[in-house]
Amino acid sequence: MTDTTEDLTQLNTAIVRVSKEVLISLLWKICETNPSARDFAKGHLFVHENEVPQPMPATTTGPKRMRTRYANCINCKEEFDVSENTKKSCSYHPDLAMPDYDMWPDHDENCHGPIDTEENQRNYPGSFIYQCCERYGDEDPCVTDWHRERKYDYETAKRQRF
Ligand SMILES: [Zn+2]
Ligand SMILES: [Zn+2]
Repeated sequence: MTDTTEDLTQLNTAIVRVSKEVLISLLWKICETNPSARDFAKGHLFVHENEVPQPMPATTTGPKRMRTRYANCINCKEEFDVSENTKKSCSYHPDLAMPDYDMWPDHDENCHGPIDTEENQRNYPGSFIYQCCERYGDEDPCVTDWHRERKYDYETAKRQRF
């Protein structure tokens, strides 16, 4: 089968439209059946432990090995590249935010609905105050630190998705 430009455009469109879950199982399948795809994926997704700045949790005491390059941070919830982690990479609040009720003088919870919702916090960050530092949601977070990796593996992902 030869690909026409039209085929490729259609494939790209299909990739953009499909859910992350379907993409993950598709990529798993491609890597399972195609050694060069597997090497390509490893080249992008692995990094040698020697290239990972400390402190990261030491996974082994033996010789350094390859490890996954991208991780999710338990503090800021962002994805990060473990080989580029520094003590200034992550900004977050250790505590939760509460609405500053003085900023909602005209909001009647009985008729407008509750104030303390995730949606309001997202839409009006400047009207929520963090308990750790009394800063508002539109100011810089109070803690700067290394990203901390959330452990998340293939077996867990498979259990949750399928
Ligand atoms: Zn804070
Ligand atoms: Zn972080």
